[in-house]
Amino acid sequence: MDEHPDQLSLAAGLYIVATPIGNLGDITLRAIEVLRGCDGIACEDTRVTGKLLKHLGISKPLWRYNDHSEDRDRGRLIESMRSRAVALVSDAGTPLVSDPGYRLVQEARAADIPVTTLPGPCAAIAALTLSGLPNDRFLFAGFVPNKEKARLDFLGEFATVDATLLFYETGPRLTKTLGAIAEILPGRTTSVARELTKLYEECRTGPAQDLIAHFENHPPKGEIVLLVGPPSANEASDADVDALLRNALETEKASRAAALVAKRTGRDRQQLYARAMELKAS
Ligand code: SAM
Repeated sequence: MDEHPDQLSLAAGLYIVATPIGNLGDITLRAIEVLRGCDGIACEDTRVTGKLLKHLGISKPLWRYNDHSEDRDRGRLIESMRSRAVALVSDAGTPLVSDPGYRLVQEARAADIPVTTLPGPCAAIAALTLSGLPNDRFLFAGFVPNKEKARLDFLGEFATVDATLLFYETGPRLTKTLGAIAEILPGRTTSVARELTKLYEECRTGPAQDLIAHFENHPPKGEIVLLVGPPSANEASDADVDALLRNALETEKASRAAALVAKRTGRDRQQLYARAMELKAS
């Protein structure tokens, strides 16, 4: 088939398209195909999306959309999806993840419009993979509130959650939020992942107090994902570790049990393996 991608015709419906969070090379082949083949693009900011399209050599009608758009505007967009392929993008990353699109997708599905998602860059997931923090369970909680009491209450909601916590943050607010983490989630390993996929990508990990000292001397620029390791990684006692190992050994070999408990607690896998063998022999 010798069809130029520009002429590719897409079935009518809504296409959720993830776009790069910094490095334009992270656009997916499928995203390009859909942006080329669609009839129009709903976006947060026509200038931002216009720049991406220019880089890709694509020209399409752009419609400004956010979840606060008038119901009438959203209704029109949904009606147009009955006969046209409409792509949804945000300024960067995956639409709907702390970005507009939730109401559009919800209403499109309710109207029996076909909805397709094109996965791709997402700052939270990129940060999780980079940080080295336990990733078998994680909880993404979006932006941290700006006001002091709301911030403390918000972080308090997650104090007992046994998972790595992920938040979106901005440079000017970082040290205040780290201060709140030191107070509300004390002793937890914390990571600051900054400028992901860009020239000055950085991921710095340590106790929140150490990170505050660093970032007070080096005010952070750019976009930030803040991660807080699970309480179990810091607090698992030897007795807790033995209990986890015994539990895992009921169904797994020692090596697999050690790997699972290492992931859960952040402890050294080889030492866990040695302990698992002791427990098996006892
Ligand atoms: N939907 C996007 C996604 O999939 O990541 C997130 C949109 S949200 C409005 C923007 C926030 O994402 C930023 O304030 C920052 O916390 C985070 N972010 C976006 N790009 C980033 C990057 N390159 N490095 C670190 N954090 C980033």
